[in-house]
Amino acid sequence: MPKQIDIDYYLKTVTEAIKDKQVPVVDLIAVQTKDPFKVLVATILSARTKDDVTAKASARLFKKAADIHSLAKLSEEELTQLIYPVGFYKTKAKHLAKLYAAMAQFNHQVPETIEELIKLPGVGRKTANLVVSVAYQKPAICVDTHVHRIMNIWQYINTDTPLKTEMALRATLPDTYWITVNSILVAFGQSICKPVGPHCDICPLAHTCAQKGVRPRKIVGKMMAQTDGLRFISWNVNGIRAVEKKGFIEMLQEFDADVIGLQETKAQPDQLSDALKNIPGYTSYWHSAERKGYSGVAFYSRLRPVAVHYGLGDEEFDCEGRVITLEFDSYYLINIYFPNAGDKLKRLDYKLRFDAKLLLFAQDLEKKKNVILCGDFNVAHKEIDLKNPKTNVKNAGFSPEERAWMDSFVEAGFIDTFRIYNQEPEQYSWWSYRFSARSKNVGWRIDYFCVNKDAKDNVVGAAIMQEIIGSDHCPVELNYTP
Ligand code: SF4
Repeated sequence: MPKQIDIDYYLKTVTEAIKDKQVPVVDLIAVQTKDPFKVLVATILSARTKDDVTAKASARLFKKAADIHSLAKLSEEELTQLIYPVGFYKTKAKHLAKLYAAMAQFNHQVPETIEELIKLPGVGRKTANLVVSVAYQKPAICVDTHVHRIMNIWQYINTDTPLKTEMALRATLPDTYWITVNSILVAFGQSICKPVGPHCDICPLAHTCAQKGVRPRKIVGKMMAQTDGLRFISWNVNGIRAVEKKGFIEMLQEFDADVIGLQETKAQPDQLSDALKNIPGYTSYWHSAERKGYSGVAFYSRLRPVAVHYGLGDEEFDCEGRVITLEFDSYYLINIYFPNAGDKLKRLDYKLRFDAKLLLFAQDLEKKKNVILCGDFNVAHKEIDLKNPKTNVKNAGFSPEERAWMDSFVEAGFIDTFRIYNQEPEQYSWWSYRFSARSKNVGWRIDYFCVNKDAKDNVVGAAIMQEIIGSDHCPVELNYTP
């Protein structure tokens, strides 16, 4: 049952908390221009796009096309260039190119009702509600993902789709908030109640919020804030195409990472969707296995590397797409998918050969610059790193041979950054899909960020992002100042 909450108190408290925060870009455009056409176009551009990107793209477009008639004079190609790099810019350019013809039935005026608006290309219920409420100041409830998420976190409603949320809010939310609730909760969701690691520690509602399904951010060790230093993330996604369907592209924007290393991508570049190949703000680098649907590593980076190195220089391992390295001015970032020793340790020899080669590779690079290694190491180092050490001694990932290699890796001077900050048990990064292992936290910590000893002082934080779902692994994180 939804909780009885004083929604008036909640929304007034949030309004006060966000008064210095940025107003969502579409509201800003509405206030500045009072022009339904510009609100409509900016709303179309804003879907799956950061506000600052939408603002710049809208400004470029409105310089050339301040109304529907001048928009009609631009070709799809020109539109594509003007709005790049908003999310799904090619599709949005197609929709904008069709807008003039579609609006003929409304005498080229932006309609004022949801039913009419959703007849336009690229306009769904959310966009239509936003145009009605923001551009025409008429009662409508736009349900952005933040509204849907936060209203459920508070347990003001109990719904599983934005449409149901809109209907539930139409039935319960006082009229005074219909027009404003979206901009209030978008600003709150972007700044405090973030989708990943909400900042409950500074939230004025923390004493009363139901926090349904929430994993608040943890302030770990010296990590002062999520923006300190560069933010690197490593994640075994267990299939990039599978995780794309679970919202990977949106997650990447929310992570706000400078570089993310992925393992087990299970795809070759020609199997990727356009959306995966063109995530705004990021360049991607792929090292895939020769065998289709197997292994593979990749990086998405918004930092420009001085060089990219593929593999270890040994065909025995490189055909499996297990290592990719970004070289920056003062450090190397190596992304590794270590082999699994396999059922009955069938591939243990292969794995140990890989381990040895990898250590030599890292030591070689260390002679030139600092080295950061991230990835799925496929080994839990100590007993504290898995739930059931006793029963797994003979199993892949906890065999004496694999752990001995990890000992030698540490003896060679490489540091497991997570343990600089956290000595607690039950800090896992992988859970079997079987036996509800994740909900019972029966897991293993096999995903790491490690650095060479000279880079230790550059590390300002390390964490496991257990709240992120989408794979049988969760991402791990490193904050680093070069
Ligand atoms: S307490 Fe946490 S979950 Fe609740 S509203 Fe505040 S930030 Fe969001």
